Amino acid sequence: MPKGRLSATNLATYYHLNCDLYLHNVYHQSSGPESVLASQVVQAHFNRGMDWEKLLFRWLDNHCLLLPIPSAPIQAEDLAERILADSRDHFFVSGLTLRPPQQAFHELFREKGNEDVTFSVAKPDLLEIFRTADGMVVWRVVDAKSSENVKASHYVQIYFYTLCLTYILPQPRFRPSGSTAVWLPPSESSHSQPSFTDLKSINLSLLAPSLHTFLFGRLPRILEQPNGEPNWHYNPLCRNCPYEDACRSRTLVQGAVGSIPNLSHADANSVQNLLNVVQPDSGLSDIEQLHVVFQNQTRWKHLEKAYPTTFRKATKALGVAKRKGKTGVTMSTPLLDSAKSGEIQLTQRRSFTCPRSEDIAIVVSLLKDPSIRAVPIAYFCVSVFSNTASYKPPKPATGKVDQMVPTLASIIRSILSQTSILSTQCYVFSSAEHTALQSHLVEAALASDHSDADIRMCIGALASGASLLQTTYQPLILSGVFLSFLDRPHPVATDAEFRLYAERLGLNVSGSPEEIRCMVQAKLEALKAEANTPSLTPEDESRRTLLGQVPRVVTVKSEVEKLLALPMPGYWELEECAKVLVSEPSVPECPTGDEMLSNCITGSVEQLESQLKLRNWYVYATLNSLRTRASHGRPDLLVNPGRRLSANCMDICKDEQLRKLFFMQQFEVLTKLVELWKTRIEGCPDAPVIEFQNIAQGSRGLEYCFIVTAGALDMAIEKEKSFYEYIIVADHEDDEDIPVEALFDDLTIAGSVIPLNNFTRKRWDFQHPAVRDNLALVDLQDVSIRGRGRSKVTALTLNLWTGGTFQVEVGKKYRLSPRLVDFNITKVLATLFELDVRAGAGDVEQPDSPFWQLIKNPRRLRHVNTVTDDVIQASTSIQRLFREIHDLGNESAGALMLQASQLQAAKRILSNQLSVVWGPPGTFSRDAHQP
Ligand code: SF4
Repeated sequence: MPKGRLSATNLATYYHLNCDLYLHNVYHQSSGPESVLASQVVQAHFNRGMDWEKLLFRWLDNHCLLLPIPSAPIQAEDLAERILADSRDHFFVSGLTLRPPQQAFHELFREKGNEDVTFSVAKPDLLEIFRTADGMVVWRVVDAKSSENVKASHYVQIYFYTLCLTYILPQPRFRPSGSTAVWLPPSESSHSQPSFTDLKSINLSLLAPSLHTFLFGRLPRILEQPNGEPNWHYNPLCRNCPYEDACRSRTLVQGAVGSIPNLSHADANSVQNLLNVVQPDSGLSDIEQLHVVFQNQTRWKHLEKAYPTTFRKATKALGVAKRKGKTGVTMSTPLLDSAKSGEIQLTQRRSFTCPRSEDIAIVVSLLKDPSIRAVPIAYFCVSVFSNTASYKPPKPATGKVDQMVPTLASIIRSILSQTSILSTQCYVFSSAEHTALQSHLVEAALASDHSDADIRMCIGALASGASLLQTTYQPLILSGVFLSFLDRPHPVATDAEFRLYAERLGLNVSGSPEEIRCMVQAKLEALKAEANTPSLTPEDESRRTLLGQVPRVVTVKSEVEKLLALPMPGYWELEECAKVLVSEPSVPECPTGDEMLSNCITGSVEQLESQLKLRNWYVYATLNSLRTRASHGRPDLLVNPGRRLSANCMDICKDEQLRKLFFMQQFEVLTKLVELWKTRIEGCPDAPVIEFQNIAQGSRGLEYCFIVTAGALDMAIEKEKSFYEYIIVADHEDDEDIPVEALFDDLTIAGSVIPLNNFTRKRWDFQHPAVRDNLALVDLQDVSIRGRGRSKVTALTLNLWTGGTFQVEVGKKYRLSPRLVDFNITKVLATLFELDVRAGAGDVEQPDSPFWQLIKNPRRLRHVNTVTDDVIQASTSIQRLFREIHDLGNESAGALMLQASQLQAAKRILSNQLSVVWGPPGTFSRDAHQP
């Protein structure tokens, strides 16, 4: 007999944890999750959920849309009676507590041949009620969730509630609506009110097949398994699971793959797939078995040949790499060695992203408070460390998030004001902090009251790639826009305009009109020349001395993971990592996230600030410990030196909205670039590997034929367009070489048509020499499947463009990965800047044009009711006429008949100043501008 019952929340938690053992434990163990104290983080999430629920209920009540009922298990008849007694056509019932219909569920379990599972009471947040004209009641379950998006775990919960109510509410008077919904909080700010637009519906028919199978098929079978049998994997999601202590011990005792830290479920599955095809040696744990396999060249070579994709995925997950040595190629297995021996191991991998040293290190810690949704960063702390005698670091600065931009800007400014050039690097510990910092800078640029100078300083110094965009595009934009103005025939530019141009070009405007004219024209000629034949700026020069893209903000945790294997099962954070890497008995222990959050919630600011400062000290100490270990015996592991600080960024628009749009365009490109750089620096581990077969003559020239030997090909083919959206480089046997992709500079040719012509070819010469000779641009022509059964292969036909000595060799393997192609960025930025300059000159002669209004005041483009009843009636009778003529056999009239959606679009176009009509070819969208 089961000792417990499952609640809908348990089912949702199961979907979040992806762990059969969790469900099994909840159902069969007497000490359940309730017996464990929740951490501050869990408590904060819970509080945020409760706050959102209260706000939503109050809002519904204020709008006369709430029917609260006592929160105790309610009988079906009582519930039906209360709903029917309410005369409103639309309202929400709150406080529902229901006993699941076990008898009805019994039949469903029996249909699948399973034993019953017992569920505890169901408590949906809201039951939405619509009364129809014929007196029927249509209902659906709505659950309030305080997260940013709807998750799979929410679906299982609302599906379960819906299922219960389907059997409880009497039919046919009560009819399920066919959908269910999650109500999310408003996204703009904590002061915004709930809105029906945040009610995210999903059709039940999309949920039912998989969730019904889970609830009545898979769930009872998971629960029936004997103790110890259910699937489990000790991993980073286990933090805060009530069974964590037992699972940590068990993973170590059993030598399970969870003994390796930070191995996700997907990675663990990849490893398990490899273990499934290995001939097992008796009595070995998973870790030992893998270790034995990778030490035996015959065994791993066989696996690599027989199961290339499984092998590649598993070796990637386990950080296993090939090394060329005197005895041939061997496998390096630092993570397995560390899990087996319990000692820290050096991975021997090179890092291009962690500088080996710098003059000044800026360390930033951010404390997130999950109970606050709108402002995820509650507190920040910036500490500056330096061993340089000429620089005296400021004291650590802490504060609430609104002070972060001015604080960082002031520190950056003070470093830039130094007479000597100092290399400077910013560090955060976790990738969550990295994301939060970058998002905060983006938001500050788009919608904050900070000074422009401070924002520009922070974006330029801390947003990866911002200075690259400036050096690549700014000369093009300035010269293009100003020259087009000066070249226009009418009216001729006035002295006042020349003065304005001079100001925008940063020139001295104190001379005579003639002098200013000459200065402007000389500057524009210089810009034009620079845009056409760019020269290497100091920023370019400094980039070329670095290998790969050293990020502006380095994530210390990722660098430790890359270079060291730590003997910690499941996961580690700074406090655990610092315990093994930093030994300083005189310094208090590193504070935990929970301890800091506790002080934040209770308002103990002094303690919190000293904890954040201590945390920054530990981040820096961990970084230095990593450097010491990495350089011990292998000084070449940290490839790059620290970068010189620069605060360049493109911020040339003055109008508030245009400036925001200008930033948004840049952030979009930067986001794409950063994603590309992240994977390239690792050697594109997820890129499909292709083997060259032969060359054939195609309709557009030579075509190169390859087959895919590893990885998945998830790439679109557009035969009409030849954008050369991909790059290939040789896939080497080991990871000692610098990935050529990491040296590729997308921006110089992102907007050029390939093949490059004599003029644009000059841009290719700006690429790193290793790129020019070892990388080709690729246009995907065709993908096909050849052969059958086990001999089935994916074949690719490619066009290649090479600007150096690169050549493909038959039988050799290559990595195929994307590059940035963007033909619009320069045009969009130039247009925004042009509008900005014209606005500054009082020269926007079309204040009523939709384009200008779309930017300045989109609300003015809302509904204008110009469609009269006469027009609608006339159009209806014309359509009727076409139908009649068509029915008489005239096919041409059929082509003039509008479908209902087309008619609707036409009416909207006539009723609004701006309408966006979209649809695939043949759906009227192209002709919609002339309905
Ligand atoms: S600690 Fe992890 S492995 Fe153990 S029951 Fe919880 S989720 Fe599953």
